[in-house]
Amino acid sequence: MGRWRNGRRTGFRSQRPQGLGGSNPLLPTSSIDNKLKNVAKTLSYSHDTKSIYTFMLRKTYPHKPRTRIQETKFEKPKTKTETPLRFVPLGGLEEIGRNMMFFEYQNEIVIIDAGLQFPEEETPGIDFIIPNTTYLESKKANIHALLVTHGHYDHIGAIPYIMNKIGNPPIYTTSLTKAIIEKRQEDFPNRSKLNIITVKNGEKIKLSNNFEAEFFGIAHTIPESVAINLKTPVGNIVNLGDFKIENDLNGEPTDVEDLKRIGKEGVIMFTVDSTNADKPGHSESERMVEKNLEELIGNTEGRIIIAMFASVLTRINEVIKIAEKLGRVVALSGYSMKSNVEIAKRLGFIKSSPGVIIPVEEIHKYRDNKILILSTGAQGESNASLMKIINGEHRFIKIKFGDTVMFSASVIPGNERSVQTLKDNLARQGANIYASDIIDIHASGHAPKEDLKLAMRLLNPKFLVPIHGYFYKRSINAKSAVETKISPKNIFLMDNGQVAEITKDSFTITKENVPASYVMVDGLGVGDVEEVVLRDRKTLAQEGMVVAIITLDQKRGRLLKSPDIISRGFIYIKENQEILEEVRKKIRAIISRLPNYQPLEADYVKTLVRDQIGQFLYTKTKRRPMILPVVIEI
Ligand SMILES: [Zn+2]
Repeated sequence: MGRWRNGRRTGFRSQRPQGLGGSNPLLPTSSIDNKLKNVAKTLSYSHDTKSIYTFMLRKTYPHKPRTRIQETKFEKPKTKTETPLRFVPLGGLEEIGRNMMFFEYQNEIVIIDAGLQFPEEETPGIDFIIPNTTYLESKKANIHALLVTHGHYDHIGAIPYIMNKIGNPPIYTTSLTKAIIEKRQEDFPNRSKLNIITVKNGEKIKLSNNFEAEFFGIAHTIPESVAINLKTPVGNIVNLGDFKIENDLNGEPTDVEDLKRIGKEGVIMFTVDSTNADKPGHSESERMVEKNLEELIGNTEGRIIIAMFASVLTRINEVIKIAEKLGRVVALSGYSMKSNVEIAKRLGFIKSSPGVIIPVEEIHKYRDNKILILSTGAQGESNASLMKIINGEHRFIKIKFGDTVMFSASVIPGNERSVQTLKDNLARQGANIYASDIIDIHASGHAPKEDLKLAMRLLNPKFLVPIHGYFYKRSINAKSAVETKISPKNIFLMDNGQVAEITKDSFTITKENVPASYVMVDGLGVGDVEEVVLRDRKTLAQEGMVVAIITLDQKRGRLLKSPDIISRGFIYIKENQEILEEVRKKIRAIISRLPNYQPLEADYVKTLVRDQIGQFLYTKTKRRPMILPVVIEI
């Protein structure tokens, strides 16, 4: 797995084929080239990361050029009686999503979050990727709790797939997150019933002999996000999950009392979100966003469609409030939008007067300037509601001249082309479009640099581990941490699966690694798609395939008819009759050279055809399609 995983971390994302299918013209076509480039990239990757460190530290500490952030030596030799706390990030440190980590002390384990990762270009056809729980499965009797910070899929998405395997430990989370987990679990009727314990803001719960968790509220884009202060024998460990700092209109941070108090009580380790570590400044005030949205909606004449993630329930709630204030009804379009709003309404997180939210099939009863539609599909997802509306496939909504469509979500890197196509189609149909970059109707749910530094200062941890995001973002977060006076030798950029041992005054990344490779979910299969399957899918996508059907006389081992050649995604064979004829000729030659005094071995014939036709096509076209020989013996 090693090299392949290194390969995928090397910045391919910027040239993804962006979801519309087909091979990417930017990628090299020959797999040899591919391999060479991957190797080259792997090399330059490891080289680059080293230089990021050294450069970073040299710049920060010119007088200490040899210091490295990832200092793995003990500060003080461990005494024999001191049992270290083991900390293992299982996912979320080399990717966006798949967030999961656990802490182990003697024979007790506590897990935080169990998320999924959406697929990438390097994993074609995969629904999503979940963390590897092999280690936890072997110690399931020791697992006392799964603590869940909030209801986004990158933090809860793996739950249906892993809970049975790790012994179905109790889940501790807030009521909204519980409802979202339970709603999803309905899709998996064969799994054991989950034991979810609802926790409240400020609640402290004893999880086991050695662990106690304090839950406290934190701002994010979904209500009831909780941060965790995990009290362990070596000290307090703080995981804020995904978070941002709410700033008021004057730019003053609000709701940071908990962070101040916990910081004063002493924090041994802080695992900090790095999603927006490279964005300068402070978070946009949510009030400012609300004001902008209200102005924009107030000044719009016709029908309004707002495309956003169904998971940003805080923002959805704001839009519904504004619509009600301005006398518009709200129709919800998209399955996840409807089910999330329903859950949030049931639990009281969305409060709207009766009749404000209407069934989408009733929009014809209202004048256009009284309608606001909330739709999924802001990222150009092919099966989401906005795509159906634009393609004229939606049963109740069609775009018409004068509609206004607002995108209230930043485009996720890699989705730019899909979103561009969406906007083109909307513009052709006469809609006015507001993207989040034209007017600021989006504030991220993740703290940017200055807010991250504020959290670091307030918590004042002894050790800091940047989490959530690729190495680059985590390294920027590490640099910010140095600016807040956290000692560089106490900042650790870990990899998934590494085991750290923490005592009251030391943090050591051990040589031990627990399995942390991808577990891929493909349809109903979990973990049954291996690297070889992915490689085939990539070859098929990039080079196409050629099928050679060879009909043989079983006894004499001779061809009964001319071989049939079928190709898909390789070259247009009708216009390349010459090559086709040569392939047939080659196959005839291969068969005729075989000794005819013994029955033919079909597998042997297939191997010969695969190798020789593959080599021949490569010489002719410099491409390596997948060759599938089919031998029929009559
Ligand atoms: Zn989140």
